[in-house]
Amino acid sequence: MHRIASGDLHSTYNLGDLRITSLRDGYVDMPIGRLRQHGNKPFGDELPEQVPLAGGQLRLSVNAFAIDDGNEVILVDTGASNAWHPTMGRLPEALDEAGIDAGRIRAVYFTHTHLDHIHGLVLADGRNAFPRLARLLVPREELGLFRAEARLERFHGMAEPFEAGDRIGTHVDIVDAHGHEAGHSCFRVSSGGERILIWGDTVHVPSLQFDRPEVTWEFDADQDRARESRLRLLALAADDHCFVAGAHLDSPGIGRVVRSDASFRFEPL
Ligand SMILES: [Zn+2]
Repeated sequence: MHRIASGDLHSTYNLGDLRITSLRDGYVDMPIGRLRQHGNKPFGDELPEQVPLAGGQLRLSVNAFAIDDGNEVILVDTGASNAWHPTMGRLPEALDEAGIDAGRIRAVYFTHTHLDHIHGLVLADGRNAFPRLARLLVPREELGLFRAEARLERFHGMAEPFEAGDRIGTHVDIVDAHGHEAGHSCFRVSSGGERILIWGDTVHVPSLQFDRPEVTWEFDADQDRARESRLRLLALAADDHCFVAGAHLDSPGIGRVVRSDASFRFEPL
């Protein structure tokens, strides 16, 4: 996997016969108490110094990823559009910068249905972001959550469920990452003997959770299961020597996981 282009809002890489592009929707600042120790206890003054803060808060990058086979483009997650803080919603600019015409995006796959991942289906002005969208894949366990989003009502009938273990098309396998949300899933993309695991919200705070994967996030729907999934996925990525791509890893959010003492370390590409 090699970087072939980059800018403020995107980085594009070759993966076998595919092009993978990291697209920066923006960032979101969160209080440090969202990080949880064992027993769901919020972090406070004891937050390790290795965690950088922006104005006293945790700054999470918000990224989406495009898979381009030269013909059509699959988008994994879509950013927040204008549904949350105004520090997000730059996906359309990122696509422009990367030279990806929104009309080439024929499929959107959701890692899960939290608002910073799904609302980019709709532009801030209310128009459809991807005018030729033909497939919309949603984790089966989260169809109900997706259909509760009134602003995305026009897409409710299009939602097509998938499950861990499914293979989609020629390049993508679904890997179970349940815990952060009921159907939270990773997309393992393979081409030409190379692999990347697009892992959604497996890690929210990279400066801490590779080193201490037991630390959870307030918005993990099931804290214990999220912790188990993170440990399993970190081990899988390290032992498989695949690349990983994270929605909240610092932009562009692509690299490798390596084992380090009893835990893990992230090596950005
Ligand atoms: Zn997220």
